[in-house]
Amino acid sequence: MAASKFEVPELKGYTVIPLLQKGASANIKSFLANEKIQEDLGFPGELVEDWHDKAIEKMGELLGKYRGLRVFMDACVHCGACTDKCHYYLGTRDPKNMPVARQDLMRQVYRRYFTFAGKYFPKLVGARDLTREVLDDWYSYYYQCSECRRCSVYCPYGIDTAEVTMAGREILDSVGMGQKYTNEILGKVHRIGNNLGLPGPALTDTLEGLEEDIEADTGFAVKLPIDIKGAEVLLITPSADFFSEPHVESLIGYAKVFHAAGISWTLSSMSSEAGNFGMFIGNYEQMHKVALRIRQAALELGVKRIVVGECGHAWRVAYSFWNTLIGVGAGADDPFAKMLQKQLDPRYPQPAHICEVTYDLLQQGAIKMDKEANDHRIITFHDSCNVARGSNMGGIPGGQFILPREIIKSVANHFYDMAPETVFEGTFCCGGGGGLLTDDLMELRVKGAMPRMNALKSVVDAHQVNFMATICAICKAQFTKVLPYYEFEMSMVGGVHQLVSSAIRLDPNK
Ligand code: SF4
Ligand code: SF4
Repeated sequence: MAASKFEVPELKGYTVIPLLQKGASANIKSFLANEKIQEDLGFPGELVEDWHDKAIEKMGELLGKYRGLRVFMDACVHCGACTDKCHYYLGTRDPKNMPVARQDLMRQVYRRYFTFAGKYFPKLVGARDLTREVLDDWYSYYYQCSECRRCSVYCPYGIDTAEVTMAGREILDSVGMGQKYTNEILGKVHRIGNNLGLPGPALTDTLEGLEEDIEADTGFAVKLPIDIKGAEVLLITPSADFFSEPHVESLIGYAKVFHAAGISWTLSSMSSEAGNFGMFIGNYEQMHKVALRIRQAALELGVKRIVVGECGHAWRVAYSFWNTLIGVGAGADDPFAKMLQKQLDPRYPQPAHICEVTYDLLQQGAIKMDKEANDHRIITFHDSCNVARGSNMGGIPGGQFILPREIIKSVANHFYDMAPETVFEGTFCCGGGGGLLTDDLMELRVKGAMPRMNALKSVVDAHQVNFMATICAICKAQFTKVLPYYEFEMSMVGGVHQLVSSAIRLDPNK
């Protein structure tokens, strides 16, 4: 690997709280979206002349709409419990990456314009005018937060910095300061149906090629069906699963599970993306528009179940918001939502995570595994933030932690968890979530990955772990890039269904 242009943190196997270094990551800035990208989403193409008034107006609107945001602005007592919980602070040492400081960027402005004391005695209460310098700081530091919500776990008041970040980004978009990476991808989903801009015919070709590969490899005609009307299951999966490594190995794993269990399923060319970057920019309309494609596909294909592949934030959106967004589950009550609710089979969770499907089939004995097929792997599991802190699985407390681990233990003989404070609810972000998986933020991504890399190093040293499983497309892509910076093999990361794929018996007579 070429020498990096920044200092890569040294791994000790455990993470220490670093000394502060003021402005350490002030130079790290995500590229701004250009006029076309912005206008395609209905945002101003560039910073509007009256940005100050517009931003304050938008802030007032959000404070009225989201009660939680106003509570978060008022409730912080600056106790400091969150200060050392952010991987970006730990990795960059920049005090503005402390969660409370990130919130304060907005809180100071909130106090100035929305509280009595801040209007008349600003200095006394730490209130601050919204200046261009403050706006630029918002852009820098709200795009140095992966909205992972780790800090909120440790806040005695449950203040969720991710919600503040989302509000900050929404205000920035509304005045014409959008982020290139996220907004460009949203445009692709609206136009083509997936984050990669992969058109339907290319997708069909890719799937046919994969079917040939699987048959050559296993001798079984495992199908990757697309646009099959009347299939039981519609699989909505991140588009990275269609061609990126190691993601595609999990796609093959899902296909083998459906094949072995005899479940008819389909992908959709019109709705070929589980990811929903609308959440990253805190914009309900964008999130809604992206999710509507899934409803349309489910209605057109007449499926009975909707299953979501390995994607962390997609599962959070599906689990927590699809009900009110598009009517998967109880919630939305527009005519199409009602139609979908009538169509979906109430005997299954709607939506279901692919881990729930596989886990249930394992419990029923409907699929069988040869664990020895994974004997060359010594495995650990990285809990992805949005799954860990924003969802559930299996309808049991902590199911989002239990099910993936139980699947791994059913398909492999060697499994070791990382240190307790770095997994489950306290899991460390991969460093690339929340719309930060872009090369212009590589320094932040590498430094933000440091706490996870430290935890990984400790199980590598203690148990010779050589495979870190995860159920998130962003985590897979991020780790593939940053592992080599820390002198780990990029092939160390892979999906839970990659492990399933290696172990599952495809011959029904075995
Ligand atoms: S949500 Fe995550 S990235 Fe953002 S401040 Fe909290 S810990 Fe840091
Ligand atoms: S833990 Fe909560 S109350 Fe304490 S400083 Fe952080 S955000 Fe404020």
